[in-house]
Amino acid sequence: MSVSEATGAVLVICAHTGDFVWRAAGAMALASASGANVTVLCLSFGERGESAKAWRDGLELAEIKALRRQEAIQAAEVLGAAIEFADAGDYPLRESDKLIDEIVRCYRRIRPAVVLTHPPADPYNPDHPAAARMALQARVFAQAVGYEATGEPLGAPPVFLFEPHQPEQCDFKPDVLLDITEVFDVKRRAMECLKAQRHMWDYYTDLARRRGVQLERNAGPNLGLLQSTMAEAYMRVYPQVTRTLA
Ligand SMILES: [Zn+2]
Repeated sequence: MSVSEATGAVLVICAHTGDFVWRAAGAMALASASGANVTVLCLSFGERGESAKAWRDGLELAEIKALRRQEAIQAAEVLGAAIEFADAGDYPLRESDKLIDEIVRCYRRIRPAVVLTHPPADPYNPDHPAAARMALQARVFAQAVGYEATGEPLGAPPVFLFEPHQPEQCDFKPDVLLDITEVFDVKRRAMECLKAQRHMWDYYTDLARRRGVQLERNAGPNLGLLQSTMAEAYMRVYPQVTRTLA
């Protein structure tokens, strides 16, 4: 199963409100365009670690959280996704049984066919691995018949790890390149909802272009032709399940 072919629900679990926009917005826009239900669960607003401009502008914590919340709601709307906030705090995002239980309940309710989250290593931002660890643990707990939570046990949705800001430092080596050309304008509009992180808009546009070149190279011969493919890179956690090798 690939992200673009997903017809079941898609659940994105991220540490901060900006993360899904830079790293998974293409997959989310493709899935919602195909009619899938897409939900993003933001464990925090990124109010302390990813809101430098708002702090420099003299805003208070509550105002920053409200601002980040509003921007994320707008971005999710552009992507056709539902959005939920755990408001668990960042820097640090603390791992707890309570938060993992909340994520289990989210899995049981959404019943995702595909899960997207952070890679489990990121020396620049400990909240990202914390979110990934909790997302992966909660997925396993949600599968257990004996885990006490409302709803049927979860199946085995594949987990795709989205690309971190500095992939080499995070042991990120793509094994899925997702063609997001047809929805890239949607991703760009979602990125532009995050006005305080303007410096990221072009960075993630350039990254999509580079991943697009790599996608073409992996799809066929190198003909040296100009092309405008845009892509997002992912790693898989679990083996692909298939009846044919393709
Ligand atoms: Zn983040």
